Amino acid sequence: MDSQQLMELSKKHMWLPFTQMTDYERDPLIIESADGVILKDIDGKEYLDGYSSLWLNVHGHSKKELNDAIKEQLDKIAHSTLLGAANVPSILLAKKLVDIAPSDLTRVFYSDSGATAVEIAVKMAYQYWENKGIKGKTKFVTLSNGYHGDTVGTMSVGSIELYHKVYTSLLFDALVIPYPVIYRHSSQDEEVVKEESIQKLRKLFEERHEEIAGMTVEPIMQGAGGMNVMPKGYLKEVEQLCREFNILLIADEVATGFGRTGKMFSVEHEDVKPDLMTVAKGLTGGYLPVAATLATEEIYNAFYGEYSEMKTFFHGHSYTGNQLGCAVALANLEIFEKENLVEKTNEKAKYITELLEEVSELENVGDVRQHGLMCGIELVEDKKTKQSFPSEQRIGYHATLKMRELSMLTRPVGRDTIVFMPPLTTTKEQLKEMVDILKQGIILVT
Ligand code: PLP
Repeated sequence: MDSQQLMELSKKHMWLPFTQMTDYERDPLIIESADGVILKDIDGKEYLDGYSSLWLNVHGHSKKELNDAIKEQLDKIAHSTLLGAANVPSILLAKKLVDIAPSDLTRVFYSDSGATAVEIAVKMAYQYWENKGIKGKTKFVTLSNGYHGDTVGTMSVGSIELYHKVYTSLLFDALVIPYPVIYRHSSQDEEVVKEESIQKLRKLFEERHEEIAGMTVEPIMQGAGGMNVMPKGYLKEVEQLCREFNILLIADEVATGFGRTGKMFSVEHEDVKPDLMTVAKGLTGGYLPVAATLATEEIYNAFYGEYSEMKTFFHGHSYTGNQLGCAVALANLEIFEKENLVEKTNEKAKYITELLEEVSELENVGDVRQHGLMCGIELVEDKKTKQSFPSEQRIGYHATLKMRELSMLTRPVGRDTIVFMPPLTTTKEQLKEMVDILKQGIILVT
């Protein structure tokens, strides 16, 4: 089939996620192949992968070791259910995850996307208190603009108005604490911004801790809500408050996990030990949909007993623990060790900081936020007053379309914040090329 026919068919039959299809009809794109950090469309045009194909890709595309791991597993078996039966790659991967995760996390419950991993964490936290016979701990706390996925449960613990407002009556009410956004605060003193939010959290916990089962948090960097970085020490204080008030801490490492922020997991930056931790995206290096919810032995034990005690966790998806996915995830984690990737990511992050200095000087760049290889560039109409562009102008969207023309793919989040999140193995030359395109794209639309 030629590319024109494919275009027509995609417009006729596809319904793309987080996409207004009239936008797609005006500017369609069909990716056909990829190698390293270069994606190629059906007309042979090449694009740098400036967003790791939606924050997933780690070692680049078409990585030989990952391709081989899938092929090797395929010759044995592709899938068997995990309901009541384990499989070899899922066991080996569970051991590996426990080895690299914060020390108290010893149990691995699989699923197949970031949202399902968080949904599971929320249900586990809820049932944990029930199973322990502690009544009334049924509510969840979240931070404003938090994003944990698009299922009904994860939207309930998320708070991005644009995505969730229409579903309000379908969702359960979470208790929302304002995220400590440094750029938008009247004080630019991190300590002041941190304390203000922490005091609100403390007050909420003091008043309602007996009703609260858990708190979800994107550790250190909030992704889809606007690429916001927490003030130093904030996450640690959240952990301490959760401990003090007997509230389970759910760290959502779906975006931040697997070396993305310069540590294997972002919680490590502040030596935080969550009760539940969710991982997905980078777990398979961006190859296959595998996710996991890691739990402490204390949580696991609350579900453990004879069937008649009715403590079982009644949850599971058809593809949970998929063998192809677990095999490629294992190979992905082995490359981390072999190539000392987390260390190298830190060097690259420093280089990106230097490169982004020029971007931050642009007239319409209000703020540049970075946590390792996770960056957000917020565009504003007026740098002095921090006035945003009118939302109907969709300046962030148009900037990313311009970048696409210039051969780099990415997407905006929040209010006109451009995501820059290249695969961990992007070379310095490619990083420079990407940041040049970022700059040009912004200049050409503002
Ligand atoms: N949690 C966080 C922090 C995320 O950034 C995302 C996706 O961007 C999710 C959960 C949902 O993951 P998925 O898209 O795999 O369902």
